Formats: sequence, structure tokens, C-alpha cells
Amino acid sequence: MARCKAPIPEEALLDYWARDVAGGDETERVEEHLFACSDCSARLHHLAALGAGLATLVRQGRVSGIVSRAIINRLQRDGVHVRMFSLWPGETVPCAVFPGDDLVVTALRADFSGVDAVTLSVTGPGDSPIAQFEDVPVPGPGGEVLWVTPAAVVHEMPSMRLELTLASAGATRAELGRYVLEHWR
Ligand SMILES: [Zn+2]
Repeated sequence: MARCKAPIPEEALLDYWARDVAGGDETERVEEHLFACSDCSARLHHLAALGAGLATLVRQGRVSGIVSRAIINRLQRDGVHVRMFSLWPGETVPCAVFPGDDLVVTALRADFSGVDAVTLSVTGPGDSPIAQFEDVPVPGPGGEVLWVTPAAVVHEMPSMRLELTLASAGATRAELGRYVLEHWR
């Protein structure tokens, strides 16, 4: 079997699998690729064969990064305990995890008018970089960017202030929002 040279990222594969109603450019792109690529098809089958699937992946701490609302909905339906924090630009929100939490979701709202993709930067004390996500597609003007972290990871974090910045991707890099999570344990 030929190794895939441009594998579909695991998040995109999960996203595709989690969607109840297929449709849209992204779905078409994934389907076209899967049709032609036995490597990625096998990965998709493997994901689906996990049974509880996503919920299992979450509990293994394998789901992190930027995910879609379809995935969050699917997870909640499968009994995953999601702790969600929603922030508007300029907001400071206290955040913590509690026993029984599986996943921490930070929902970043902003005015995404005229923006196709964004960069999310997360920094800790003294501007230390914690995470950076490039070219994250946004789902329309009123959409939100959902950043997911396994609860076990957040649980290990010391109390600290996290600053999140959303900027439009590409040359302009206009700042769309700045958010603060006051993490405590
Ligand atoms: Zn492939």
C-alpha cells in the first residue's frame, strides 16, 4: 500500500466522521481524497472501528487543538463531559477543571466578517508561548473558534493567566480579539 504523501490531519478525519449531515467544500475535499487514498481510508476505518470512537479518543487524551461544533455536539451526545468557557474579545474569565471533566473547550467569539482563517496564539506568564494554531478556518461572521484541551492536561497546569489572541491569517494579521483565562487549581 502506497504511503499517503498528504495525509488528512487527524482532526479533519475526526471532523468528517463526526458529522451527521455531510455537505460543504471541506466534506467534498475529504471524500475525494478518501476515494483515491487507501492509506487515509484505512485510518478512517480504524477511527470508526474504535466503537465509542471519539469518546474513547477523548478519554485517551488524543483530542486537542481546534475542533468544530459538530465534534463537540457529537462528543456530548456520546457522554463526554465537556467543560465550556465562552469568551468575547476583551473578556477575562476564570477557568478550572473539576472531577469528572473529560475535555475543556474554550469558545472564542469575535466578529469574523470578511475573514476566512485565523491564527490563535496562546501565551502564559511573561509572554511565554504555550500554543499556536495557524490558518484555522472560521465558520462565517458569527462563528467561533473552539480550542480543545484534555481535562487531564489542564488539571496538571499550575494556576496562571493565559492570554489568547486571535488575528486574521495571511499578510494583514489584523487582531480580532484578545482574551484572558485566569486558570486556577
Ligand atoms: Zn491520504
